[in-house]
Amino acid sequence: MTDAGATGAGVTVRTPAKVNLHLGVGHVRPDGFHPLDTVFHAISLYDDVTVSSGDPGSGPRVRVLGEAHVGLDEVPVDGDNLAHRAARLLGRSEGLAPDVLVEIHKSIPVAGGLAGGSADAAATLVALDRLWGTEVADVDLYRLAAELGSDVSFALLGGSARGTGRGEVLQRLTDHGSWWWVVVIAAEGLSTPAVYRRFDELFTTAPAKPSPGADVERALANGDPAALARALRNDLEPAALDLRPELDGLIHRGEAAGALRGLVSGSGPTCVFLCADAATARAVAGELQATEGPRGAHVLVATGPAAGAHRVTYDRPV
Ligand code: ATP
Repeated sequence: MTDAGATGAGVTVRTPAKVNLHLGVGHVRPDGFHPLDTVFHAISLYDDVTVSSGDPGSGPRVRVLGEAHVGLDEVPVDGDNLAHRAARLLGRSEGLAPDVLVEIHKSIPVAGGLAGGSADAAATLVALDRLWGTEVADVDLYRLAAELGSDVSFALLGGSARGTGRGEVLQRLTDHGSWWWVVVIAAEGLSTPAVYRRFDELFTTAPAKPSPGADVERALANGDPAALARALRNDLEPAALDLRPELDGLIHRGEAAGALRGLVSGSGPTCVFLCADAATARAVAGELQATEGPRGAHVLVATGPAAGAHRVTYDRPV
């Protein structure tokens, strides 16, 4: 039997981008972190990570590939890459030398508010666990994921989930919908820390406890697009719009084109548009391609909820 997901001696794992259907942000804590109460939702926009054994003593080596519009130039290939950190962390935890080649095929835009770096870290953990045959228990994988960053745990889980704490405390949500999204990727990314700084300046009296996304959770459970459209909320949106005022016009154009609702994804600048069905999503994407394409944006259609980090038979050339 063919070992699905392995090409030669490599193992490939695919992980989804996330959007926040609800992002409640509390007042910054003394340690610099913001308490979050969020509803994560994984969409069908993926990075693929292939790991294979490297030369003894080489340490992790990272290669990043993909289309120009995702912003590959901004991805570090040294120890700062989250996949590099994931390889070192799992190696240390399992007592193994992380002498591996990590090839990241990126489709998730860099600094897009879609947690692409976190997706790569989650994929690396799962792929190396397979490559090394370490069979790390899920509870330990989630612990390592939380150590790597607040969005890494959700990239492992996928689907739709409530995230609290810094986003790493997850509770899977019932989601009876099959949701259609138009995703508009800006030509240039936005720094997550810069957006949080602007949030702190704009909302000096933000409540300590972030707002929960009960309405979003209900809409997901009922599979009701109109209710979900009404319930979508992102507390970071005003800060992202302040730094990128042109996104306001984009959201209006997407809604005028027929989307039920447009929203900045996480810290932005990616905007996502919830559509009633596939046909509407394709029509909205076509209209937005015509208006945003000349501005350097990239437009695509995605569905959700998507699976978390999972092995695949590699179907893209490296
Ligand atoms: P988040 O919302 O999770 O903070 P984001 O989706 O806005 O993140 P990422 O694409 O995860 O942004 O990247 C943020 C920064 O992390 C990049 O500018 C880059 O310098 C660094 N980085 C480290 N590893 C990676 C990686 N594997 N892929 C992309 N960026 C990475």
